[in-house]
Amino acid sequence: MRIIVIGSGIIGTSVAYRLGQGGADVTVLEERRIGGGTSSTSYAWVNACEKLSSHDYFRLNFAGRAAHARIAGELDGAVWYPRPGVLQWQGASAEAGGVDPSDQTDKFGILQDWGYPAELLDGKGLQRLEPEIAAAALDSSPVIHYPEDGWCYPVLCAGAVAQAARQRHGVRFVAATVARIVVSGDRCSGVVLADGTTLDADIVVNCAGRWANDVLTNSVAPIPLAPTAGIVAYTLPAGIGLRRGLRTPAVNLRPDGAGRLLLRAGDLDKHVQPDAPAVVNQPLADELLARARALLPGLADVGLETWRIAIRPQPADGYSAIGPMPGLAGYYACVTHSGVTLAPFIGEAVAAELLTGATHGALAPFRPQRFFEGETA
Ligand SMILES: Cc1cc2nc3c(=O)[nH]c(=O)nc-3n(C[C@H](O)[C@H](O)[C@H](O)COP(=O)(O)OP(=O)(O)OC[C@H]3O[C@@H](n4cnc5c(N)ncnc54)[C@H](O)[C@@H]3O)c2cc1C
Repeated sequence: MRIIVIGSGIIGTSVAYRLGQGGADVTVLEERRIGGGTSSTSYAWVNACEKLSSHDYFRLNFAGRAAHARIAGELDGAVWYPRPGVLQWQGASAEAGGVDPSDQTDKFGILQDWGYPAELLDGKGLQRLEPEIAAAALDSSPVIHYPEDGWCYPVLCAGAVAQAARQRHGVRFVAATVARIVVSGDRCSGVVLADGTTLDADIVVNCAGRWANDVLTNSVAPIPLAPTAGIVAYTLPAGIGLRRGLRTPAVNLRPDGAGRLLLRAGDLDKHVQPDAPAVVNQPLADELLARARALLPGLADVGLETWRIAIRPQPADGYSAIGPMPGLAGYYACVTHSGVTLAPFIGEAVAAELLTGATHGALAPFRPQRFFEGETA
């Protein structure tokens, strides 16, 4: 089976690897560089504990965590998935005027019911684990410790998975821009590149993230997207001893390698202009640093190395869109937020569907079809 995968982000590389492993003849087309899209500007917390709005979506993300461990165990020298744990507290000073601390206890109860590894700590327990945290940053609200959680370095992951796909399974990675898919009647039969070359395929898998709709022809309805912008900031290497990720009312931060910390905050994201100029003193990035310093006094003399703005590839209802398009054979879409968490599982499940014709139960609630009920694409 000849399969074209558009995009080599964390999802495209994972899909290509598993398809190649299953015996398909796979070509990946990438117009930037491996992992150079949204995957390179992600906070990349691998978790299901923030996905409690739907049990199906929680389970999908839970499967993502497990699949991360599988692929890391499969490839030699996997260094992209550290799991030192994550600590979360809300506190009365949370954004939007304060959050009832009992929310944390409720959340903990749901996580226990749903089998997520978590424990409750008090402030003392938190400071035993992470003594660099300022006591003033805490109040009496309970802290949830996710002892098995961690994050991914998505570009390292995509690079290693791409290399394994190439070396082990003969997957081709080609630098090229896909101008559009080729559609005749009710079938997609390949892609046309920006230089006019046509490439034929039995199946085209669209893993182009936030750009997924740009390659569609007029005859194919786009998956409705509701992209949101986010800003992430990176400190200079800091000589502090923080090991775990922190999810706090003011700022989320985690180690990002070589002493750097990666910072973000949901309330600041709401003020991000996607086309903000690349100025040195970005006020939102400076605010992220100020909040991080209040949390970790050891950052007092540590500045920012850089900051970046990225757009989340988010289907309009907030959930993943993974599967065939109604009325269009030979075409399969994989567009989702939480893509860092989900990528290895999407690779496994999509390859199983495309190579065996079976349908994967975990993907059933997340088909693109839900956006087109009653019409054809
Ligand atoms: C601020 C922020 C924080 C986030 N935090 C988390 C988090 O904590 N946990 C989590 O799991 N997820 C998180 N996400 C979401 C996650 O980063 C994305 O869901 C994921 O990176 C998407 O991966 P992807 O492979 O689909 O897209 P991408 O990484 O964007 O890859 C798509 C690739 O397709 C290529 N491409 C596009 N169009 C074409 C074309 N026409 N021809 C050829 N190539 C093309 C692009 O160059 C790109 O390399 C966050 C996102 C943001 C922005």
